[in-house]
Amino acid sequence: MTVKPETLSQICDHAKSEFPNECCGIILGSEEQEFVRKCRNIQNELHQEDPDKYPRDARTAYVIHPDDLIAVHKEADTQKGQIKAFYHSHPNHEAYFSEKDKADATVWDEPAYPDATYLVISVYDTEIRAVKAFAWDETAKDFVEVEGAFKET
Ligand SMILES: [Zn+2]
Repeated sequence: MTVKPETLSQICDHAKSEFPNECCGIILGSEEQEFVRKCRNIQNELHQEDPDKYPRDARTAYVIHPDDLIAVHKEADTQKGQIKAFYHSHPNHEAYFSEKDKADATVWDEPAYPDATYLVISVYDTEIRAVKAFAWDETAKDFVEVEGAFKET
């Protein structure tokens, strides 16, 4: 799948506005249309309530607010097509798919959303350093980087 330039600029703006915390969201749509749905990252709330269970805060982790996830699923079911991609940012870190990102995207060693792409945005202060795309590879049984996800079409 490819991401439209407008979509890319929207998610980069989101990453900058949430800095130094991780942003998270979902891209809905089809080949023709894309809709960016910013989601709330509740990692700080989880960390405050239970730091033993959630040792990281929102600077190095994210959890999508469950209401936001449900809302996007409803929207996908009713009108806007499918969930194309999930995105989140890595403030002051490179754009790689971490072990935690893999764990979050996997259920019992199978991908939770096998057709979705995962976008990771590397953001340092006000600067976007890189955006990379990852997707499940059935042969590798792992998430691998997707080339050409940001080509102008
Ligand atoms: Zn990550």
